[in-house]
Amino acid sequence: MFKKTNLILLGGPGAGKGTLSAMMEEAAPFFHISTGDLLRAEVKAGTELGKQAKALMDSGKLVPDEIVAAMVKDALKKDEKKYGMLLDGYPRTVNQALLLEEALTELGRPLDAVVYFQADDDFLLRRLTSRIMCRKCNRIYNRFNMAPKVDGLCDDCGGEIYQRDDDSEASARNRLKVFHEQTQPLIDFYKNKGLLIEIPCGERDQVFAEVVKALN
Ligand SMILES: [Zn+2]
Repeated sequence: MFKKTNLILLGGPGAGKGTLSAMMEEAAPFFHISTGDLLRAEVKAGTELGKQAKALMDSGKLVPDEIVAAMVKDALKKDEKKYGMLLDGYPRTVNQALLLEEALTELGRPLDAVVYFQADDDFLLRRLTSRIMCRKCNRIYNRFNMAPKVDGLCDDCGGEIYQRDDDSEASARNRLKVFHEQTQPLIDFYKNKGLLIEIPCGERDQVFAEVVKALN
């Protein structure tokens, strides 16, 4: 299915990275790595790294990048499918990227590409703020392409339509700001290494087709 299989996925909030990642996993036996899941598993299994991480989290501290990189490395060592990896939501900073690079070099499994689902802020804002709901029956609508027939009133129950704070424009703008501040250095980092592949966001099947083409 894919020629390039050791991958990082990047994309802003609303870019549809989660959906695309799920489609890729369905198409090929990728090893999907979520650092949140890894952390929870190591803590539960009581490994040395897990114990260190738990002690830090219990005292309200962040788990250092070195520990997370070591967990990713351990997980990859145990990967029996040996097809490829999808790193989604990690690394988030250049320091994490450097530690990951070191770990992957030691494993002899360098990155093949970093797929960046690119979209301008207007596109992402529109997606992030499109959801509105009925206060009474919780039915979900889309302001742009699935709005209630009567403005402000639920088709099913006549309840009041509202927008959750999480879906508000202020909240969306804030998420975008954080994304740009955090991720732009990472995008530049991978661009300089010649690993970055930019795929424009859009309709999911079309985006997926672009991904298949770009990774072959
Ligand atoms: Zn309703």
